[in-house]
Amino acid sequence: MTKGNINVSVENIFPLIKKFLYSDHEIFLRELISNATDATLKLKHLTSIGEIKTDYGQPKIEVKINKEAKTLTIIDQGIGMTGEEVEKYINQVAFSGAEEFLEKYKDSAKDSGIIGHFGLGFYSAFMVAEKVEIITKSYKDEPAVRWICDGSPEFTLEETTDKTDRGTEIVLHIAEDSTEFLEESKIRELLTKYNKFMPVPIKFGTKTETLPLAEDAAEDAVAESTEVDNIINNPTPAWTKTPSELSDADYKEFYHELYPMQFEEPLFNIHLNVDYPFNLTGILYFPKLTNGLNIEKDKIQLYQNQVYVTDEVKGIVPDFLMLLRGVIDSPDIPLNVSRSYLQADGAVKKISSYITKKVADKMVSLFNENREDYEKKWNDIKIVIEYGMISEDKFFDKSDKFAL
Ligand code: ADP
Repeated sequence: MTKGNINVSVENIFPLIKKFLYSDHEIFLRELISNATDATLKLKHLTSIGEIKTDYGQPKIEVKINKEAKTLTIIDQGIGMTGEEVEKYINQVAFSGAEEFLEKYKDSAKDSGIIGHFGLGFYSAFMVAEKVEIITKSYKDEPAVRWICDGSPEFTLEETTDKTDRGTEIVLHIAEDSTEFLEESKIRELLTKYNKFMPVPIKFGTKTETLPLAEDAAEDAVAESTEVDNIINNPTPAWTKTPSELSDADYKEFYHELYPMQFEEPLFNIHLNVDYPFNLTGILYFPKLTNGLNIEKDKIQLYQNQVYVTDEVKGIVPDFLMLLRGVIDSPDIPLNVSRSYLQADGAVKKISSYITKKVADKMVSLFNENREDYEKKWNDIKIVIEYGMISEDKFFDKSDKFAL
């Protein structure tokens, strides 16, 4: 067994982590599930290039609550870590990453102008846990190890026979002041908020499914039911597909998946897809402007590689399009910056003008394809279009082709 001290230059980083972004403790789950997802996708890559000889199979991530033991556990079937890798990635890389992040943001932490808060990573677990265990077994033929840290800079690391299958289990011993994270409803809420479209299936408990009756079943036959994994996410949301794979009905279905409380159909959709000079995908919708429209709640959502970041997209999406709905997914939007910086950022300006151009192009084709339909919807879209014409020159320049 190894005992050691994590190399801290900040006297004790853990109280800082705990205080950090008081209202935002919940992001620990997003960070840990992102790590589990990365580890799983790395496995996928290594099997695809023949580096790992096992079958990729259908790995999933599982989230489990144990109320009696007061633990919340995140289990993945990804590449895992060897003892040496835990030393390196957790004690050194992850730690200095968290330290650097805190150094940089501790003063501005309460500045709500910072979006996303990506980057705190693994150590965000200490915002809610008084002790964290990592039990991990690498895909390499090496013994599993257990790492334990109680929120002081001391840790222990030892070999264990407790884990025989590949992957990582992160066990959070939830602190007294964070017991809300032992509530099933709370965890379900967070999984739905941050992880609804992540690329690896996430299991949270089981659910009962009724099996279909055989065709020749007797009239009084009772359908049997079975317990199946409760998968909380859709790993392949519509925006990750190409427009040719999607029908009109698929776009509408995705709209309702994004906004389950929204019963109106959207009027138009615009599929975004760029890979140069920046990466961006997404789908934007023109909603029908009715009294039921919840402008405050159902907003455009920003994702980074299928991880939810925020629905405060001011600065990224031009103002006149703030009435639209949908998703934007881009790894190229800087997230640990304040909003004023964001608006001045070159990449973000390009993204904003790309979206403007794409919307203008789509309006031209909608107008040309079915003018009658376009005119019918004009009343609902004109407020957006007219606002765009007076606020964005480039949009105005094209508007003679679609403004009525
Ligand atoms: P980041 O994910 O941004 O690199 P983290 O602090 O979250 O930073 O994690 C540091 C490193 O620890 C990761 O880069 C990865 O190598 C390793 N790691 C964390 N969680 C896992 C996991 N579930 N499985 C395998 N490796 C992991």
